[in-house]
Amino acid sequence: MMDTTNWKVTEAPTCPHCKTVMEQMDSRHMDWESPYLWVCFNNECTLFKKGWNHMMESVGQLVSYRFMIHPQSGEKGVIPAFSHDYLAKHGKPGDPYPEE
Ligand SMILES: [Zn+2]
Repeated sequence: MMDTTNWKVTEAPTCPHCKTVMEQMDSRHMDWESPYLWVCFNNECTLFKKGWNHMMESVGQLVSYRFMIHPQSGEKGVIPAFSHDYLAKHGKPGDPYPEE
């Protein structure tokens, strides 16, 4: 078990943009110094949807970002979301390149 005594957010928070209960995303292989991040996975999230349009217009690419909260610091931010599939595949523990 992890010692989460000093963590700010250890219970699933609610996304301020869409009121969806956020879920843990494995981030052990990412640069966040935390085994997971709280991420809003709602594809209807206003922040997520706004992101698609914004990124389409500014860089012409289908990427967006999702709202996230760092469990240890309680810091709020966004993470890039290339697609829901990307996060589903690469945000899971273990093999980053699962079988097709
Ligand atoms: Zn949301």
